[in-house]
Amino acid sequence: MQPLGGAGEAALVPYAHNPDLIAEPRTAAEVVAAVRHAAERDLPIGVHATGHGLSVPLDGGVLIDTVHLDGLWIDPETRIARVEAGVRAGTLLEAAAEHGLAPLSGSSPSVSVIGYLLGSGLGLLARHYGYAADRVRALKLVTADGELRRLVPGDALFGAVLGTVGAFGVVTAVELELLPVAEIYGGQLVFDAELTGPVLDAWRAWAATAPETVTSSAGLLTYPDLEQLPPFLRGRSVVSLRIAFEGSAAEGERLVAPLRAAGATITDDLRTMPYAQSGSIHREPPEPHGYAATNAALRGFDADAQHALLAVTGPDTVVDIRQLGGALREPGRSGAAIDFREAEFLVRVITAADGPGPVPALDAVRTALAPLTLGHQLGFLYGAADAAGEAQTRAGFSPGTYDRLAALKAEYDPAARFRATRVIVPER
Ligand SMILES: Cc1cc2nc3c(=O)[nH]c(=O)nc-3n(C[C@H](O)[C@H](O)[C@H](O)COP(=O)(O)OP(=O)(O)OC[C@H]3O[C@@H](n4cnc5c(N)ncnc54)[C@H](O)[C@@H]3O)c2cc1C
Repeated sequence: MQPLGGAGEAALVPYAHNPDLIAEPRTAAEVVAAVRHAAERDLPIGVHATGHGLSVPLDGGVLIDTVHLDGLWIDPETRIARVEAGVRAGTLLEAAAEHGLAPLSGSSPSVSVIGYLLGSGLGLLARHYGYAADRVRALKLVTADGELRRLVPGDALFGAVLGTVGAFGVVTAVELELLPVAEIYGGQLVFDAELTGPVLDAWRAWAATAPETVTSSAGLLTYPDLEQLPPFLRGRSVVSLRIAFEGSAAEGERLVAPLRAAGATITDDLRTMPYAQSGSIHREPPEPHGYAATNAALRGFDADAQHALLAVTGPDTVVDIRQLGGALREPGRSGAAIDFREAEFLVRVITAADGPGPVPALDAVRTALAPLTLGHQLGFLYGAADAAGEAQTRAGFSPGTYDRLAALKAEYDPAARFRATRVIVPER
């Protein structure tokens, strides 16, 4: 246990945790000791892995930094990876690739594998294989009473942990199924933002008949004027289409032809690549930033929704629209707390967070998309700490799921010691 001073990247984030103590455990037993230390003194507990998904900041109490829980083992025979809490997605990608295997990773290689899984894990090949959380075969959880539990599918707490982003304790390790995916066809088509309307029209029409072996998204953003960016992107507003497809280059080229025809591209890096390079597709910044974000799981994304979204977003916002459907509709084998599986699109909007309090641009997005909104995904909510209360968590689930989670919270964390994350109020 160390005195305050080593929270690493969290210091970059305006909603930084403000703990009394920081624990940097190297083993699950040391996590147990840190949780018991907090429990004996009635202190709240927060968990920090990379700082990529900070929501509710910890005020006092014990922050458990998982950076030294860096164990990673892969069994190529069973295709199972055992991953500890500090391991980043990029590290797992590279290690799995040595065996011709791949995790169902998402757009950013720099998030932690476990933080990603606890928010559902919407991966680059999601339409083909479903949510990454549904591939977890076992996990180790230290609950608020300081007990280390091994949980498997079928245990009520197992499903509750996957989808609630740390609300039930510290996950020290997971056993995760890998897939025999060595290569994909993918990359980005980037167009000037002047073409936003026609490019999104073309993508929506294309997505309606795209096979489930292709997962795609559209992004709207303005690149900062930074030297490390290629000159053709510096300070430029763009609309991009991101593709990940499991198939040959020839099939991929045929598939994306209607998207290429949407207009003149600024760059086009669609190609066959080793899956280990898939983290380059979205070109996301590796460092955590002070984001505030909202998202909406939509029953459809039609021309009206597109128009309404574009009317309330602009150069100050980053928009990411992901096509869902395919295998994401299936209930999943893990019992993970993931609802709205019938959603066809997920619209995410991110903006810089310069302090706590409501963010008008994000409120406007929620209002604009309300007619088609089923709910939202908890794994894609950052910042806006004032908004990160029970109502926000409820909107992540159907009422029945939330009630089940609140009952489990009362059983396993009645004092809500794990409250510096998605808020679940223990059922009274
Ligand atoms: C650039 C970027 C791209 C992203 N792309 C995707 C994507 O494609 N698909 C997707 O599904 N998500 C994506 N996300 C969301 C990301 O998966 C979540 O923000 C995730 O929670 C980040 O986890 P972290 O541990 O890296 O971050 P942190 O900020 O360290 O943690 C985030 C939350 O997870 C909790 N947590 C982390 N580790 C543990 C643990 N071991 N035990 C208990 N609680 C823990 C923390 O308490 C905190 O509440 C993206 C995020 C970013 C910033």
